[in-house]
Amino acid sequence: MIGELYIVATPIGNLEDITLRAIKTLEQVDIIAAEDTRHTLKLLNHLNINKPMISYHRHNEEIKTDELINRLLEGKNIALVSDAGTPVISDPGEEIVKKCLENNIKVIPIPGACAAITALIASGIDAKEFTFLGFLPLNKKNRKEKLEQIKIGENTIILYEAPHKLIQTLEELSTITENRRIVLAKEITKIHESFTTGTAEELKNKVQQPRGEYVIVIEKNEKTIKQEQIELLNKLSVEEHYRYYEKNGLDKKEIIKKIAKDRNVSKNDIYKEFI
Ligand code: SAM
Repeated sequence: MIGELYIVATPIGNLEDITLRAIKTLEQVDIIAAEDTRHTLKLLNHLNINKPMISYHRHNEEIKTDELINRLLEGKNIALVSDAGTPVISDPGEEIVKKCLENNIKVIPIPGACAAITALIASGIDAKEFTFLGFLPLNKKNRKEKLEQIKIGENTIILYEAPHKLIQTLEELSTITENRRIVLAKEITKIHESFTTGTAEELKNKVQQPRGEYVIVIEKNEKTIKQEQIELLNKLSVEEHYRYYEKNGLDKKEIIKKIAKDRNVSKNDIYKEFI
């Protein structure tokens, strides 16, 4: 029988944030593939688990994926863990998951902590729809594209950032996010956990010497949303457009004024349509 691959989420700070199922899985598998074996050893020691480990990180992902696939095909069960949080999310793992699926090896997710989601749920920023961008690319062109996406900001944006790049990123954000609310979630689940809210400019001035780990949660751009709504309304007939505002409780005078503004025409033009 061939083995199974378990994608196991581990804590992002507080060691108590590990699920019973994650512990059981780490106890039961034959091998643990870890991003940094020394780092994972600390967690395993804390859990009293003693298991053979294989290092699996960005720089050996290609070679090690084949090795792990062979072990799985030989019948070994493997757990993949990263240094913190959920593997695959801005961490290695995607390659081995794809290869397992190609080889009909079962991939079993063991969910748990993820910094992006943990930051979002306490940020107070709209969580109904969001875009996770991970770390902003360093390549100038790619970075510009992502910043443009943030500027348009159709929904909440979540970023990861390293402390030594935080100020530069906040500076860039301050040129595109105007007074949109941003939450800086620092050292989540750790002793010095903090959530600081402000505009990019305010946060840049507050954070003098960034230390620790950060997630940046950015409020969506209401201007873009409004523009989108207007574009949709303009696709309706003038009569349908009128009914829309009527349903929202506006009187005739206000409605004519609004439709004229939305369609960028004079109020007279709208009156004429009705006559
Ligand atoms: N796979 C991980 C997850 O599920 O969140 C993310 C790994 S990524 C390499 C590491 C980044 O996640 C850090 O640079 C930081 O932006 C964010 N992060 C991880 N732990 C964090 C924490 N306790 N507080 C704030 N941010 C954290």
